[in-house]
Order: sequence, then C-alpha cells, then structure tokens
Amino acid sequence: MRYANLSGRLVLIGPGDVALDVAHASGGEFGPEPQAIYERWDAFLSWARTVTFEDARPFDRKCLEAPVPAPRQLFAVGLNYRDHASEVGQEANDVPSVFTKFLSSITGPYAEVPHPGYGSVDWEVELVVVIGRQARRVGAADAWSYVAGLTAGQDISERELQHAGLVPQFSLGKSFPGFAPMGPWVVTPDELPDPDDLELRCTLNGEVVQHARTSQMILSVGDLIARLSDVLTLLPGDVIFTGTPAGVGLGRTPPRYLSVGDELVTEIGGIGELRNRIVRAEG
Ligand code: ZN
Repeated sequence: MRYANLSGRLVLIGPGDVALDVAHASGGEFGPEPQAIYERWDAFLSWARTVTFEDARPFDRKCLEAPVPAPRQLFAVGLNYRDHASEVGQEANDVPSVFTKFLSSITGPYAEVPHPGYGSVDWEVELVVVIGRQARRVGAADAWSYVAGLTAGQDISERELQHAGLVPQFSLGKSFPGFAPMGPWVVTPDELPDPDDLELRCTLNGEVVQHARTSQMILSVGDLIARLSDVLTLLPGDVIFTGTPAGVGLGRTPPRYLSVGDELVTEIGGIGELRNRIVRAEG
C-alpha cells in the first residue's frame, strides 16, 4: 500500500499513480486528516486491503504535502553510515547520535525551501521510518512489525549553526522552516522486496552528489527501533530520519553548499522522489 497527503487529505495511491480519497471511499469510517490514521492503524490496514481504485483520480504531484505532517516525535540519527562519518572527520561507532528536527521544519515533497541566509546550508538524503504501533523495549528482530511504512526525506542542515555554541546544536541547525521535506508518499514494507536494502540518491541541479544503499547503515531500521524504544516509547505516527551516506557538501574540499535557485532531488528506490527548490526567504 502507498498513502499520501494530497492537499491536506489522506489518499491511497493506486496503480498508475492515481489517488483515492480515504474519507470518501470509506464512507467516513476514516477521516481526511493524514496524521489521525495512526490512531486506528490496524483497522486502516484491514480496510485498505479491500479497496478497489475505480473511483481514484489522477492528481497534480505539486499538491502532495508531507505524508506524515504532524508526528508527536521526530527522531533523526547522525553518523549512521561509515563513509559519511569519515568524510566529516568522525570515527563511526554503533552508539546512535540522536537528535530531533523541530516539527515546524516539516514540509512537502515539492515544496520550495526558503534559504535562511546563512552560508552553509547542506543536503542529506535519508530513509524515513514511520511508526505504526506503540513500541517500548522492542527487539531488533521484531521491530519491522511496529513500522507503518517508509518514505524519503531530506535532512537539510545549516552547518555553521549546527556547530556554533559550546556543544553541537544539531536540532537547531537542522530546523529552519522547510528543512525537513518528506514524501512523496508512505510505502508499507510489504511492497518492497527488501526494505533493509534500498537505493538512495541525492541530485543537485542534475549532478548526483550522494548514491548509496540503506544496507550500508551502521544501525539498521530494526537496530534503531530497538535502541530508541529501550529508552523511550515510540508512538504511532512518529518518524525516524535514519541518517545520510557520504557525499554531503561539508565533506567536500572545498565545502559546497546550497544557494538560492538550486534544485535538490531526493530519491529512494521503491519509494519515490522529492523535488525541492531553494528559494529566497521572504521578508
Ligand atoms: Zn541527517
């Protein structure tokens, strides 16, 4: 199953990329609010399996918004690929470096991202995990059964602010408005031949700058759910940005950063792509 947020309403995406409005098709059993579906995730899954797409319609991709627009918790993991850790001068280990992107940074797969005016705005393609069931002290082997689905994300990062202050401030430097694009939809794990081995690609103005596979993650999706849920409770509708591979601007000599007018394309095999343009901030 694939589901999305089309102009603020929950839709199922059918073959040939058509959209079926969930509230209409279910006769109101499920509401239109994309974030509310996790309160009744199992019932939604059962209903979605019975759906036919006869009443589905083509749609304008530009009307897709963040498929998980208001999680209660958003986790992000730093340095989860060895080659990325080494390009930024760190030695990787298997202790997760966890931070958040504050929720006001969430935006859609085709949204314009305002450049905040700082000089070191960087890109990070990431697999994003969406939690479907409450998870507390879950083992890595069982972790996938707590996952609603997967989507693509960009962990846009302002490096100067990230490293300003007495301690690094990942959460602040990565939370300007629009710094957390997600989408284009959520894909349930059963749709993917191997959800632990997906191709990731980030393209800047047509040039491939990051290209890797999620099987290279130091801590897998299962490991991350186990480590996080050992400490806290993962709630339905939470999201986890799972880290980025090598190829970010900070790791280059000289470093290279995003400018107004740049187009950032973020792709994950079996899921889809985001296409975000960097624009001048208003006011
Ligand atoms: Zn990241």
